[in-house]
Amino acid sequence: MSKKWVYLFSEADRSMRNLLGGKGANLAEMANAALPVPPGFTITTEACNEYNDLGKQFPDGMWDQTLAAMKEVEKQTGKKFGDPSNPLLVSVRSGARVSMPGMMDTVLNLGLNNETLEGLAKLTGNRRFALDAYRRFIQMFSRIVLDIKAEPDPFEEVLNEYKAKTKGGQDTDLTEEMLEEIVEKFKAIVKAKRGIDFPTEPYEQLRLATAAVFNSWMGKRAIDYRNFNKLPHNWGTAVNVVTMVFGNMGNDSGTGVAFTRNPATGEKVLYGEYLQNAQGEDVVAGIRTPKKIAHLAEDMPEVYKQFVDVAKMLENHYRDIQDMEFTVERGKLWMLQTRSGKRTAAAAVKAAVDMVNEGLITKDEALMRVEPIQINQLLLPRFDLAAVEEARRAGRFLAKGLNASPGEASGIAAFDADTAEEWGLEGKSVILIRPETAPDDVHGMLRAKGILTQRGGATSHAAVVARGLGLPCVAGCEAIRVDAVAKQMTADGKVIKEGDTVSISGTTGEVFAGSVKTIETDFSKEKDLATLLQWADEVRELGVWTNADYPKDARVARQFGAEGIGLCRTEHMFFEEERLPIVQKMILSETEEERQKYLDQLLPVQRGDFEGIFEVMDGYPVIIRLIDPPLHEFLPSYEELLVEVTERRTRGEDASEAEMMLKAVEAMKEANPMLGLRGIRLGITMPGIIQMQVRAILEAACNMTKKGIVVKPEIMIPLTGHVNELKVALGYLEPVAKAVMEEQGINVAYKFGTMIEIPRAAITAGQVAQVAEFFSFGTNDLTQTTFGYSRDDAEGKFLLKYVEDKILPTNPFQELDQDGVGYLIRIAVEEGRRTRPDLEVGICGEHGGDPSSIEFCHRTGLNYVSCSPFRVPVARLAAAQAALKDRSEAARTVTRDV
Ligand code: PEP
Ligand code: MG
Repeated sequence: MSKKWVYLFSEADRSMRNLLGGKGANLAEMANAALPVPPGFTITTEACNEYNDLGKQFPDGMWDQTLAAMKEVEKQTGKKFGDPSNPLLVSVRSGARVSMPGMMDTVLNLGLNNETLEGLAKLTGNRRFALDAYRRFIQMFSRIVLDIKAEPDPFEEVLNEYKAKTKGGQDTDLTEEMLEEIVEKFKAIVKAKRGIDFPTEPYEQLRLATAAVFNSWMGKRAIDYRNFNKLPHNWGTAVNVVTMVFGNMGNDSGTGVAFTRNPATGEKVLYGEYLQNAQGEDVVAGIRTPKKIAHLAEDMPEVYKQFVDVAKMLENHYRDIQDMEFTVERGKLWMLQTRSGKRTAAAAVKAAVDMVNEGLITKDEALMRVEPIQINQLLLPRFDLAAVEEARRAGRFLAKGLNASPGEASGIAAFDADTAEEWGLEGKSVILIRPETAPDDVHGMLRAKGILTQRGGATSHAAVVARGLGLPCVAGCEAIRVDAVAKQMTADGKVIKEGDTVSISGTTGEVFAGSVKTIETDFSKEKDLATLLQWADEVRELGVWTNADYPKDARVARQFGAEGIGLCRTEHMFFEEERLPIVQKMILSETEEERQKYLDQLLPVQRGDFEGIFEVMDGYPVIIRLIDPPLHEFLPSYEELLVEVTERRTRGEDASEAEMMLKAVEAMKEANPMLGLRGIRLGITMPGIIQMQVRAILEAACNMTKKGIVVKPEIMIPLTGHVNELKVALGYLEPVAKAVMEEQGINVAYKFGTMIEIPRAAITAGQVAQVAEFFSFGTNDLTQTTFGYSRDDAEGKFLLKYVEDKILPTNPFQELDQDGVGYLIRIAVEEGRRTRPDLEVGICGEHGGDPSSIEFCHRTGLNYVSCSPFRVPVARLAAAQAALKDRSEAARTVTRDV
């Protein structure tokens, strides 16, 4: 007996998503819940994998099982596949375990040929309809199965030629005679392009279409999509073979897509659109602009009522927003798909909170429903209203389309996906503008900051993909004319060429020429988000702190819920304009007395900075890191100085000052500055600098304490490699701290600790913790020093390619390398706490704001993560999810043990 490769809907349910894909599992679930689903079956994802492993051959037994399933479908429908008098037609659709919108292929109306066409015509009493189905089938089959693709599309050209001859200009205006001619012309295209007659044998059509769906799993756009979304390539896609129902049988027929709640805002209203007298692809492809779903209530009240009931039932059953496809055939409703609806960040948050209030889901479930990085979307900058008004007054308003995916962006116009991708990779802000998008455009969409299309509705490809990616999208902007060949668009009498700046608002649907100033989101008005994050705070175990160098950053972070500062990089203060000359003089001083003079000038400035931060962080810990970078970073560049000296000399001008600077810079030059005189090594070499900083910290702490502010300073030493370095540094610093407190007559509780950024410090953490009262993992440097990759150069030189070629699973500077760097962290936490059980441990590298790294930090028992202010809300949610996952795993283990 061969393996089971094919499942009828009656043999499956939603728990079989991995084997049958999301679409197949949900069709089975709906069919078994007695919802109106056309009979059909699913060929498994395992068959797809086997097919690809076997070098594009169906696995043993699969085809026989497919034939048997077709017999079953024939029985259920009372029709026969290939029968000239009572033909069964099917759709062949892909369906992976997670939805990959528009990534793979679908063929409709399969089973048609010259004979079955006449059967369908007789059966329906509508020959025009049968011909319309036939021309659609040839067109889709040719594109997807026979791979006939060209710009401009030869099939569309024929269609347009005929549409132009009609009064209305729509595809519904084509006459029977015209369709007859179109079918013949389509066949001729196939003959001309492929040198074959269009396949007429229905089972041959089915075989080829099934293989094409399997092949599409390994197609470029599907691979690109999976790479971008970090989905494994070995999941495979299922193939769903479903009895065709026809939305194009007249005005009592139609087809549409709808969400149980608005996927842009989360509002609880049926949201979607439909087209009368049309087939499914018409809605998605944006050929005609569809009607809002509410119109269905007027056009077909009974059907609408039934659909509302089905939608409600599905949402209650799945306890999530459903995205449904349906077709009405001569007044009868058929459900073709249901799945969890992709939604914007705002909708995800609102729906999650609403559903808790409606009693549909628990708070914990709500927390798991929102992707932490989606929270970022909510906090993204948006247009300044005044700037929008100004743009309008200046006549820069171009057009208004459909607000298909929220967010606002300005960028340079690209009219093809390749250019958008190229410019995006160069770091440019790009708006991709297309007549409409297709799956072949996805690689460009992934790199764009926004999408603008001339055609298509709220569920068009552009809209669906943009929403999934969190990109602003204006779709169906009929007032613009996009000429993809000439790479330009016209709107309101103006021409926008490739490279010109445009601004789009996916929130309002407006399009402007030129750029529009953007502003930050008002976090305090995001009430649903506040509720969700409050729930997150109730379950998370990790603290969420922030990296902030200035009081204004600290203030933003506090609003976002930061509970401390995990890293204040003091050297950033040195770079400020009026301070840099003093810092430079301090560095260039030839004697200690001279250096002290400049340090004395810096002292009050630093003290002022710290006072500001302590004030904002009243009651919360503040970790201030002593100077870290190599000193030459504060001086002009060697190359620039060399040019200046040479030019001055050539012009006969006085070059002595520049020469002096050049000499000093030359003396400080290092072959590997990242491994050079920086961090604690610099502190020990020039103790005056860190002594000044510690004095500034403690003086600020005393001053603020006197004002009634609760200060919790923690002094952090960077780049420690050996415990002795810390001992020496503390020998310099502790006397200063004591002296300040004596002078001020106050005792402030403070801590001394270190960053762990060097593998040696991690490995010898037990010794380091004898001196350090806290650890903070500087995972930017720790990744650099563990891999031996320069954090400044690796990405540009080889690292991105490493990730692309799968030499590394992800970019270790973005997502913590848990096996390597993470291993060192685990050792350090364990050894450090063995020495000092109450050791406070956190992370302040970029990974502190990355959800997968946060999960690792939770599992490793860190006290907190620290990240940039804008990622604080993301981290709060990610930390809650980590705790919830941990608990549900623990619960599973207990159940197993019992
Ligand atoms: C780190 O190395 O991770 C860190 C936070 O310090 P910096 O990025 O300033 O080197
Ligand atoms: Mg560092």
